[in-house]
Amino acid sequence: MAIINLYNTLTKKVEPFRPNEPGKVKMYTCGPTVYHFAHIGNLRTYIMEDILEKTLRYAGYDVIRAMNITDVGHLSSDADSGEDKMLLGAKREHKSVMEIAKFYQDAFFSDCKKLNIKKPDIVEPATNCIPEFIRMIKELVDIGYAYVAGGNVYFDTGKLDQYYVLSNQNEEELMVGAREDVEEDVNKRNKTDFVLWFTKSKFDDQELKWDSPWGMGYPGWHIECSAISIKHLGERLDIHCGGIDNVFPHHTNEIAQSEAFLGHKWCNYWFHVLHLNDTSGKMSKSKGDFLTVSLLESKGYTPLVYRMFCLQSHYRKPLQFNYEVLDNVQAAYGKLVRKAASLKRSGEPEEEKMEAFRQAFMDALANDINTSQAITVVYDVLKADMNDATKRALLAEFDTVLGLDLLKETEEEQVDNELAAYVESMLAERLAAKKEKDFAKADEIRDTLLQKGISIKDTREGTVWEKL
Ligand code: AMP
Ligand code: ZN
Repeated sequence: MAIINLYNTLTKKVEPFRPNEPGKVKMYTCGPTVYHFAHIGNLRTYIMEDILEKTLRYAGYDVIRAMNITDVGHLSSDADSGEDKMLLGAKREHKSVMEIAKFYQDAFFSDCKKLNIKKPDIVEPATNCIPEFIRMIKELVDIGYAYVAGGNVYFDTGKLDQYYVLSNQNEEELMVGAREDVEEDVNKRNKTDFVLWFTKSKFDDQELKWDSPWGMGYPGWHIECSAISIKHLGERLDIHCGGIDNVFPHHTNEIAQSEAFLGHKWCNYWFHVLHLNDTSGKMSKSKGDFLTVSLLESKGYTPLVYRMFCLQSHYRKPLQFNYEVLDNVQAAYGKLVRKAASLKRSGEPEEEKMEAFRQAFMDALANDINTSQAITVVYDVLKADMNDATKRALLAEFDTVLGLDLLKETEEEQVDNELAAYVESMLAERLAAKKEKDFAKADEIRDTLLQKGISIKDTREGTVWEKL
C-alpha cells in the first residue's frame, strides 16, 4: 500500500500518513452550516477533502468518512457570541429553521453532485444527536472540565496543560473585540472558555430547544463535531479535515473537549484547506452577494471547470478567484475532454506500459496531494506512445480520484456509440450469412439497416457504413 505524505497541522510537518489500524482510515469532515447556499470557497474545501478521500482509496485504504450538518448552534461569531446563523437564515427567508436546514442541505448536496464530490459514508445533522451531546457535556461537568455559569455550560480551558495544540494563538490575539461580533461574556472563567450548552442568549429565543440537566436549551457548535465523530468513528480518529478558519477556535476546542472526555489522544492528523479569496478578500456567506455554483452555471461554466480550477493549485496555498483564469481553465478542460473522447474504444490495454504512469500519478498525490502534478500526468498519458485502449484505461483509473469526468460521453455520443455497436453486430451477422452462402439473409440484413437509415457498401477492405 502506497504511503501518502501529508501536511499535518498538529505537527506542522509533512509526514507519512499512518492510520491507527493498518489499511483502515477513519476520516471526519466538518460539514456545512445550512443557513445559506455554499459559496465556491466552501466548496474548494470539500473538493480538496474529496480528493484526499479518493487518494486514500486509490492507494488501497478502506476509508470510512463521517460528516455533520450544522443545523443548530453555530453563532455568527465562531467564538460563541452573536446570533445563531440558522435563526438568521430563517428570519431572512420567513421560514422555520428546519425548512431552511432541509432546503440548504439539499442545495449543498446538489452542488456536491455537480462537482463530483462524493457524499461521505455517514452524514449526521446535529439536531439528530442531542442525547449524545448532553451525555458528553454531562461527563465533562462530572469530571471537572466544564462548569455552569449564568445558565450556560462552559468548557474550562484553564484545566488543560496545553490548549493551543493546533495553532500559535496567544492571549493577545484573542483580545475581546478583535473578532466579529465578540462581546465579553462575563460568565467565562477564562477568555478562551467556550459554550457547550446554551440556555441563555441575549438574542431572540431559539426556535429549536431541548430539555437538558441545565434547562431547556441548545448545544454549542464545537461539541457537535466531537460527539458525532466519536459516535460514528469511535475513540481514535485518524484524520480530521476542514477549512483553515476551523483551526481556531473550532478544531482547537474539539481537541480540548474530546481529549478531556476520552482521557487520551483523539486524532492524529489534521488536514486544512486554505481559503479561496475573491477580490474583496475571504469569501463569506454573510457578505450578501457571493459566488455559488449556480452563479457560475448561469455564466456558462460547467461546474467541473471549477473543480479543475481548484485542482490546478495546491490546497495549502490561498487561491484567488478570477474569471480570466476560469476562462482559461474552461478552454483547457474542453480540450482535454475532447481529446479523451477521441480515443478509440477498440483494442486491448497494454498493461506493461501502465505501471510507470500509475506510479507517477500516485507519487504526485502522495506528495501532500499535489493535484496539479497529477493533472500533468494525465497530459503525459495523452501524449505517450501507447495505444488508445491503454490511454483510456489509465484516464478512467485516474478519474476515480480527479473526478473530472474525463471519459464521460455526451448523450449524443452515447447514442452514436450504441448505434455503432448495433450496426457492427448486424454486419458481423451478415458476413457470417454470406460465408454460409445465405444471400437472402445477407440482403435482409442490408434492408433492415436501410430502414434504420444506415447504408452499407462492400469494399475490398470490408464493409463500410454511413448514416443517411
Ligand atoms: P460553514 O458552512 O461556514 O460552516 O463552512 C463550511 C466549510 O467551508 C468549513 O470547513 C470552512 O472552513 C470552509 N470555508 C469557509 N470559507 C472558506 C473559503 N473562503 N475558502 C475555503 N474554505 C472555506
Ligand atoms: Zn466541525
